[in-house]
Amino acid sequence: DDEDVTPSFSNKNSLLPSRGWDDISVYNAKKKNYAWFQAPDGNWELAKILSVSGNESLIAYSETKVVKVQSDILLPANPEILDGVDDLMQLSYLSEPSVLYNLQFRYDRDMIYSKAGPVLVAINPFKPIPLYGDDYIEAYKRKKMDSPHVYAIADTAIREMIRDEVNQSIVISGESGAGKTETAKIAMQYLAAVRGGSGIEYEILKTNPILEGFGNAKTSRNDNSSRFGKLIEIHFSEIGKISGASIQTFLLEKSRVVQCSEGERSYHSFYQLCAGAPPSLREKLNLKSVHEYKYLQQSNCYTIPGVNDAEQFGIVMEALDIVHVSKEDQENIFAMLAAVLWLGNVTFSVIDNQNHVEPVIDEALQSVANLLGCEAEQLQIALSTRNLTVGSENIVQKLTLAQASDSRDALAKSIYTCLFDWLVEQINKSLSAGKRRAGRSISILDIYGFESFDVNSLEQFCINYANERLQQHFNRHLFKLEQEEYIQDGIDWAKVDFEDNQDCLSLFEKKPLGLLTLLDEESTFPNATDMSFADKLKHHLKSNPCFRGERGKAFTVRHYAGEVTYDTTGFLEKNRDLLHLDSIQLLSSCRSKLPQIFASNMLSQSEKPAAGSLNKSGGADIQKLSVTLKFKGQLFQLVQRLGNTRSHFIRCIKPNNSHSPGIYDQQLVLQQLKCCGVLEVVRISRSGFPTRMTHPKFARRYGFLLLDNVASQDPLSVSVAILNQFNILPEMYQVGYTKLFFRTGQIGKLEDTRNRT
Ligand code: ATP
Ligand code: MG
Repeated sequence: DDEDVTPSFSNKNSLLPSRGWDDISVYNAKKKNYAWFQAPDGNWELAKILSVSGNESLIAYSETKVVKVQSDILLPANPEILDGVDDLMQLSYLSEPSVLYNLQFRYDRDMIYSKAGPVLVAINPFKPIPLYGDDYIEAYKRKKMDSPHVYAIADTAIREMIRDEVNQSIVISGESGAGKTETAKIAMQYLAAVRGGSGIEYEILKTNPILEGFGNAKTSRNDNSSRFGKLIEIHFSEIGKISGASIQTFLLEKSRVVQCSEGERSYHSFYQLCAGAPPSLREKLNLKSVHEYKYLQQSNCYTIPGVNDAEQFGIVMEALDIVHVSKEDQENIFAMLAAVLWLGNVTFSVIDNQNHVEPVIDEALQSVANLLGCEAEQLQIALSTRNLTVGSENIVQKLTLAQASDSRDALAKSIYTCLFDWLVEQINKSLSAGKRRAGRSISILDIYGFESFDVNSLEQFCINYANERLQQHFNRHLFKLEQEEYIQDGIDWAKVDFEDNQDCLSLFEKKPLGLLTLLDEESTFPNATDMSFADKLKHHLKSNPCFRGERGKAFTVRHYAGEVTYDTTGFLEKNRDLLHLDSIQLLSSCRSKLPQIFASNMLSQSEKPAAGSLNKSGGADIQKLSVTLKFKGQLFQLVQRLGNTRSHFIRCIKPNNSHSPGIYDQQLVLQQLKCCGVLEVVRISRSGFPTRMTHPKFARRYGFLLLDNVASQDPLSVSVAILNQFNILPEMYQVGYTKLFFRTGQIGKLEDTRNRT
């Protein structure tokens, strides 16, 4: 039977409020002897019900254990026939344990992909699995295979793009290490294989090693963690062949350039260069081994098991050739990497009794100057002084050690992020060279998932805000799909309730008293501190149900995926992201090409220099768009773009924290299913009128149960008579043009009666 019968249970662990399983003796009497039991370790176990007396049940689980429990803590297990169904929506009992069990059942058999209604769930196998390559691509293309797969999603996107002439998007989310970037690449490979031809698809695939080289790093959670978000829009010609692409990146983690924690690494590109540069390049850039550079030393981690950085360097160079970055520009790029590394080695010495410092003229300083194309003295001055205009007077102020180190690090971070942006720009030029956009597109979004750590800072604040926005897109998009079906059948959609995260988004975006506005406002006050910012939030937002002030400098936001407490330490400074005008002027006066480009890009992004305005380190700064404001703008644009596409969602799940194959940590999986809204989407889909049956089918199936004859034999009259006889309440169903729509569990009564008859 294609139309499914979907009973469910009211229990705190059940996902759906619905007709009760309260009566376990009835359940047990029906010879359905198995139920889920949450063992003392928190894991769900399949338990056999041995006997039921009163509201207690005697159960056996885990082979040897027998216990007596309150019946109402048990959850019904699905019949064995449903083991491993490929769509969670097909489960009769949609409780947390049955969802978890079903996914695990598949995972244990290397079926890492499952559907949750319209959403593809992908569980990271942490080992190569034989599901990819030409044969599989061919099978999905010819529709010879229909089990859930990234290929199937990509194929649907292509078909719908062509059939409906609507742009498509594939939105991939999940936490760090869950497999988003790998999944995005698998989708790109499918598109390239079935819709390539001109050769441009090859260039598109080659952007991956470049972006990963410059934007990925080893972290404690993933050896190849993307430290930026990425949207790649793949363009198709009118005849449906790939014709080009464009890439947009979001919020590269810049702090990693100058500091990272024990056991992590900075960006791959640094290690690749040091390991792989040929002798002539080494000499030109005065390159040393990774161990010589302070920025790379602090985390005490130089290599990644199983990764050969020198080899990777070759792959990146080749990819740069393919996307038409000239040899000369490649050398310019490597010079910037070397300059950043040498900047980290610049040291300062105290020059007076007021603790003012000056950079030591040594190999490090000299190397930076050579690589940027300026004089060592110029660099020395830029790193140790500030020019101020007070009234009509020009004042030169000397910096203390802390101020000078900050300005050195700020310069290093800026050079790296400008380099990254410039590289993306070059790639985009190559991918769109000479092509007018005529046809349609499929965009693939690979963006950081919801984050909640012990300490959460501005980065998590931005990332979680982005996820809140994307979650709304997710909800509304899926809601809209459902809605279309209801509208087609003339059903009153308003009666379907669905949860929205608008309240939390408003907490961020409301003007003038939302988190983002308050942060920006505070960031412009020279005397503001992280504490004054926290106090301001507590004062203005205390009555907001999504907000809670915490002791000290912290506050908590109630996100859709759970509560996160943010520590405001460093918020204002990170948000301002200042680079001293002196540093920008230094870059613009350099002889090399890239520093000049970076300087002019920075100046064009900024508003006019805040002449004479003093900051804490006592200098004139460039007043840039704040980090959060810029990010908010990007996000709005992103969501708008996605809103004009038909979205396909892939939720990646990390089954364990040890990156090992074959280990399935229930609690970890459950938490992610909640965070990425998988459980919610199944709930939403089923909280509408998920059980649907055409009028004739309904009449055929249950008509014989009627006690009285119905005057008319037309299916609708028969159906209505059945509904009346079984006392199905009007709010529990809707009559559509072609189908009857039921709330979850309503048909259960009819089915039970039918089976007994
Ligand atoms: P981050 O947010 O940190 O960038 P991510 O979600 O992009 O994380 P990936 O880098 O895609 O995670 O995946 C992490 C690792 O998991 C990969 O390096 C690879 O070893 C493994 N992996 C992911 N997907 C697959 C797959 N389909 N088959 C085999 N291994 C995989
Ligand atoms: Mg990634």
